[in-house]
Amino acid sequence: MAEHRMCFCYDHAMQSFRLRPFQLARINGIPLMVDYTWLFVVLIYFWLGSQIYLVQQIGRIGLTEALVFGAVFTVLMFTSIVVHELAHAFVARQEGIRTLEIRLHIFGGYARLAGEPKTAMAELRIAIAGPVASFLLGAVFIGCVMLTQAFAPEAVRLSMRELFLWLFRGNVALAMFNLIPGLPLDGGRVLRAYLWHRSKDILAATLVAKRLGVGLSYMVASYGIYRAIWYRDPFVAVMMITLAFILKKAAEEDYRFHKMQSDYTKQTGINVSDMLGTVATVMKHPPICVPPTMRISEFIDGILAKHRQTHFPVAHDGRLYGMLALEKLRAVPERDWEKTIVRDVMHPVDDSLFVPMKASIEHATNKLRSSPLQYLAVIDSEGILVGSLSAAELERVA
Ligand SMILES: [Zn+2]
Repeated sequence: MAEHRMCFCYDHAMQSFRLRPFQLARINGIPLMVDYTWLFVVLIYFWLGSQIYLVQQIGRIGLTEALVFGAVFTVLMFTSIVVHELAHAFVARQEGIRTLEIRLHIFGGYARLAGEPKTAMAELRIAIAGPVASFLLGAVFIGCVMLTQAFAPEAVRLSMRELFLWLFRGNVALAMFNLIPGLPLDGGRVLRAYLWHRSKDILAATLVAKRLGVGLSYMVASYGIYRAIWYRDPFVAVMMITLAFILKKAAEEDYRFHKMQSDYTKQTGINVSDMLGTVATVMKHPPICVPPTMRISEFIDGILAKHRQTHFPVAHDGRLYGMLALEKLRAVPERDWEKTIVRDVMHPVDDSLFVPMKASIEHATNKLRSSPLQYLAVIDSEGILVGSLSAAELERVA
């Protein structure tokens, strides 16, 4: 079932046909989210596994054997990717950083952390954990190859050997690719941690890692163009150029974030990385929010009946439109509940209504005190609503 967990929206009309990420599982409290693009890549893996790899290696094989091979290969390869991300999440937790979600998408996966590491050493540990896990999995699968050769029944020995060999290659490739030293890859973070440790200047370190990341994205895009021209391979070309675009955007986003923090420090004298934590570590997540077009009658019966709180962020498609305050709702007479919609009574969005999830708790506390509603929406770096914040959440950390 498709359910958008980033924002617990009651957006009935849109939910059925918008392609939103859905939750596949919950591992140790971390939601495992899946983009619809991922389903496409699952099919490709299955097709490659069952129709190409094995047939190329050992010639004609039975259809059932090929399909089983494809299915097992696909499941174990994606399990490997999840293990890689869980390794990041596990070490991040040891460093006191919560993981908001692990997301699988067309180009693999990523773990979305609630905050940034406070020290170069913490950054290094979190970044290296993923590739280390992938190398270890590679070692496990090469062990399986050896065991297969020694113990597997003759009839399936060849295909099992191929299966484990491909999983070995897949995991080693995953580790190697991620170790390329450019943001946003793990290798870029390792490099940043090293430069940060040496120069004590995280912004300068991020700039170098960002430049290498952008350089990498141009290389990936060039490879896509090369494939398109010399191999007439538009599929790989489109994939590579899309990947290049994502890599470049993420590298620049990472630098922009650190630049913002550094400017904030210069202006206020407060070092963001020295603070106890960020809003993301204390916010209410997911937020209970309402769509702007919902009728007041629907809101009262459907949402307020279940969620007793004084304020509700108003959002559509993850974007914040405003804030609905019960106090203001009381002014609407009951006979008008049917024809009034949320947008008519909400506070329209402005600066005083939200705070970025990466902002410090100290900053959020000050903002909450001066906010007209005593209630804040929390947004991520892309402006998507991810949580809410009231005095109750801040009391817990005080
Ligand atoms: Zn990684």
